[in-house]
Amino acid sequence: MSSKYVEMEEVIREIVNCRKCELWRARNNPVPGEGSLNAEVMFIGEAPGYNEDIQGRPFVGAAGKLLDTLISEFLNLTRSNVYIANVLKCRPPGNRDPLPEEVELCTPYLDRQLLIIRPKVIVTLGRHSTIYLMQKAGIKVGEISSVRGRLYRVNILGLSINLIPTFHPAAALYNPKLRGILEEDFRRIRDALQVRGVKQLGIEEFLS
Ligand code: URA
Repeated sequence: MSSKYVEMEEVIREIVNCRKCELWRARNNPVPGEGSLNAEVMFIGEAPGYNEDIQGRPFVGAAGKLLDTLISEFLNLTRSNVYIANVLKCRPPGNRDPLPEEVELCTPYLDRQLLIIRPKVIVTLGRHSTIYLMQKAGIKVGEISSVRGRLYRVNILGLSINLIPTFHPAAALYNPKLRGILEEDFRRIRDALQVRGVKQLGIEEFLS
């Protein structure tokens, strides 16, 4: 078994047993994250919602369907070859925003996941993950609209990473005008992956 797998199993075991903040009390399931441990791109959302809490899997509701579509249409990838995680691993009641102390207590898990996967590109989905990761890179974020779609070459946890913030897919469900902007940002992600030499197309598609 690869050491990455063993390390991730340990992180997941700790998340499953975690009682560091109060969110464990109301949760049905923690949502550690899922995907390939060799993923070149990692998507980071905010926190599990209703469906994620029931299934114990990230982005399985309506926003997740849109995320799947964007990953497939623009990156020619699937969930199984990216990694999807959240800032918080347990659902905040009523989907409220994460509290600063919850972020502080929970993010060591995300940091460890980043160090195991070592993605070349991180896509932050929405304000919370964008603020968390940009702060780690020493960048102050005002409005998400002023950073979205831009590629930041940053050093996070000693890793050289291409960070691309974008809107949370749920925002595009409420405001259809944002769908086009998300698509624009996914073209940027595709370009960043191509620059980094990630294999996105099968050889047949590449040659055709
Ligand atoms: N929203 C998130 O930020 N994460 C999920 O996993 C689902 C919805």
